[in-house]
Amino acid sequence: MKSNKFIKCPGCKAMVMDIELPAHRYLGTIPGCWNIYRKVISQDNLKDESTSIRQLIVAAYFAQHPGKESVITTQSLAIHLIRLYFFFELNQSLDKLTLETQKAFTNSSDYHWLTPPSNLGRVTIVDVFKSSNTEVLEDKVLVWAETTWHAWSKYHPIIKRWINNGEKN
Ligand SMILES: [Zn+2]
Repeated sequence: MKSNKFIKCPGCKAMVMDIELPAHRYLGTIPGCWNIYRKVISQDNLKDESTSIRQLIVAAYFAQHPGKESVITTQSLAIHLIRLYFFFELNQSLDKLTLETQKAFTNSSDYHWLTPPSNLGRVTIVDVFKSSNTEVLEDKVLVWAETTWHAWSKYHPIIKRWINNGEKN
């Protein structure tokens, strides 16, 4: 039986409860952190999956918990980093950016694994979880997603190239 102790999430490095629940099957997360993420995205104001703010939460969480290199994590990380690129560099809302439209202008065969930087940003889902109202939540999500995006700075040119390659096709 597990005690009420806190352990460090291997992805975002937040201290979270050491609990026994299913976690995500390929992300670099642990149940205590995954559970907080599930609680955040199941809030009433985030139930509509197409909203830009919810899409941003998903992208930031996945980019901060990339997991280990595999076919599926490579695709997943690329897709979510491209979303952060669209939001922060191209100032585009994410509500229309479905997986299908995204695939249409990127070249997924070019995606390759990006070894995660050792520091993926000091703001985490735990900071977002503490937000009590919608406005505060959105502000915190923006700060969190932006610091996560900056943590991947050295790969920004590669991510941009994936998009440009798609435009040529
Ligand atoms: Zn985490």
